[in-house]
Amino acid sequence: MPNPFTVQDFAARLARATEAAARAGLSGLLVTPGPDLVYLTGYQPVAITERLTALVLAPDRPPTMIVPKLERPDAEGAAGAGALTLTDWVDGEDPYAAAVPLLDPQGRYAVSDAAWAMHLLGLQEALPATAYVPVTRALPMLRAVKDADELERLAAAGAAADQAYHRILQVPFAGRRENEVAADLAALLTEFGHSQVDFTVVGSGPNGANPHHEADDRVIRAGDTVVLDFGGLKHGYGSDTTRTVHVGADVPEEVRTVHEVVRRAQQAAFEAVRPGVACQEIDRVARAVITEAGYGEYFIHRTGHGIGVTTHEPPYMVEGEEQPLVPGMCFSIEPGIYLPGRFGVRIEDIVTVTETGGWRFNSTPHDLAVVH
Ligand code: ZN
Ligand code: ZN
Ligand code: ZN
Repeated sequence: MPNPFTVQDFAARLARATEAAARAGLSGLLVTPGPDLVYLTGYQPVAITERLTALVLAPDRPPTMIVPKLERPDAEGAAGAGALTLTDWVDGEDPYAAAVPLLDPQGRYAVSDAAWAMHLLGLQEALPATAYVPVTRALPMLRAVKDADELERLAAAGAAADQAYHRILQVPFAGRRENEVAADLAALLTEFGHSQVDFTVVGSGPNGANPHHEADDRVIRAGDTVVLDFGGLKHGYGSDTTRTVHVGADVPEEVRTVHEVVRRAQQAAFEAVRPGVACQEIDRVARAVITEAGYGEYFIHRTGHGIGVTTHEPPYMVEGEEQPLVPGMCFSIEPGIYLPGRFGVRIEDIVTVTETGGWRFNSTPHDLAVVH
């Protein structure tokens, strides 16, 4: 178990976020329950409901969180509560009126992407001259660069996913439904310390051609190529890895060829990782390998996404993302080839940027493993 984050850790994150908002020309940051709030305060309400909870960060005031009074004891118990001033409102009061003193009536704030519309509209009605931009647009790199304690957690999550992969190779595939193998994967992630399973993709045969297929009732057969993509949270940080396997040792030539192209694309993109390189360059490098091999039109998904307290977040490895890589950023490299109606191949590792290049948090073999 890694050392828990301290009040000082949260205070530093709060200060950094407040500074970043000011540097972006904003009055501050309005954070509602979800990953930004977990990152900044360690607080996650038991249920995210219609009752307003919001953290307001602004350079001219201490970090202040408004909570429903009945949830105040929970908020006081959060790991970062010591770095916050708490205020509350009571059922029957207007929560937006209660939040008004925390906001600049002319202010422009970055607001959590997933803030409930009813809350944002309530605040806008109470303070019509305020303006809001989503955090991902205003401060996309807010959580992107991980410190040593966060990297330790991401490494542990990756190692646990790798253990799950080694074990899933031992379970029977042929004759079982995708859903059954997916349940095995979920159980393995849990066994290796995940507290939350986010996805367990088992894309057999033609289902593998849909990058976002999860798992369904299809019965897996000998001769199927199967995409396995799974991950979740361990100690509050994400894992996400993909390997493609084949049911039975009789692997068709085309499956071998496609798999080798994807493997080379993943390796080339990994080798392109170093500080200062634009995110889109990682996508371009992977895409060039696949395009040159003649499969460009079947690489229909971006090359990667950031990972941290969630399994999908900025920075995105996609054309148009010019953000330069910075040591401590963590993201997936997951090129794939998706042949409609036939099969798909994807290989995915989580990678972090070091001073000199890239470092993988997943280290299971990239070969096309044979399962039975
Ligand atoms: Zn995707
Ligand atoms: Zn994945
Ligand atoms: Zn991914």
